[in-house]
Amino acid sequence: MPTKICSKCKCEFPATSDFFNKNKASKDGLQGNCKSCNKIEAKTHRENNKENISAKRKIYYQENKKLWADRSEYRNKNKERIQLNEKKYRETHKEQITARLKKYREIHKEEVRENKKRYYESHKKEVLQKQKIYNLSHKDQQNNSQLEYRKRKRALKAAQINQNADMKLKAI
Ligand SMILES: [Zn+2]
Repeated sequence: MPTKICSKCKCEFPATSDFFNKNKASKDGLQGNCKSCNKIEAKTHRENNKENISAKRKIYYQENKKLWADRSEYRNKNKERIQLNEKKYRETHKEQITARLKKYREIHKEEVRENKKRYYESHKKEVLQKQKIYNLSHKDQQNNSQLEYRKRKRALKAAQINQNADMKLKAI
C-alpha cells in the first residue's frame, strides 16, 4: 500500500482518503496534511476567530461606552436646555405624538392588553387599592354625575311620554 507523509506532523499514513482529505488539484489526489492535522487546524482557526470576535466586540463596547458617556455628559450639562426643547417639542407636536401613540396602541393592541393584564395579575392588590382610593376621593363627583345622569334620563322619559301623548292625541 502506498504511504504518504503528512506535511504537518510528518507522520506516515496509508495514502488513502481514510487518512487524507481529497484534493483534486494535487498529484495524488490527496491533501498534504493528514485528517487529524486538518481537524486541529480547523479547531485552532475557530478558536483564533473566537478571540477575534470577542476582541472586536470588546472594542465596539469600549467605543460605545465612550459614546454613551459623552452623550450622558452632554445631557447632564445641557439638562435644562434639553428638557425645555423636549417640552417645546411636546407642545408643538401634540397631535403627532397623540397620533403616534394611538397608532402604536392599535398596532400593539394585543401586547398592550397582555401587558395590562399581566400588570394587573402581578399588582392586583395595588391596583385594587388604587381604585378604592380613587373611588373614595371621587365619590362626590361620581355621585354628582350619577345624579345628573338619572336626572337627564328622567327628563328624557318625561319628554317621550309627552311626545307619545301628543301622538295619541293626534291619532284620535
Ligand atoms: Zn498530520
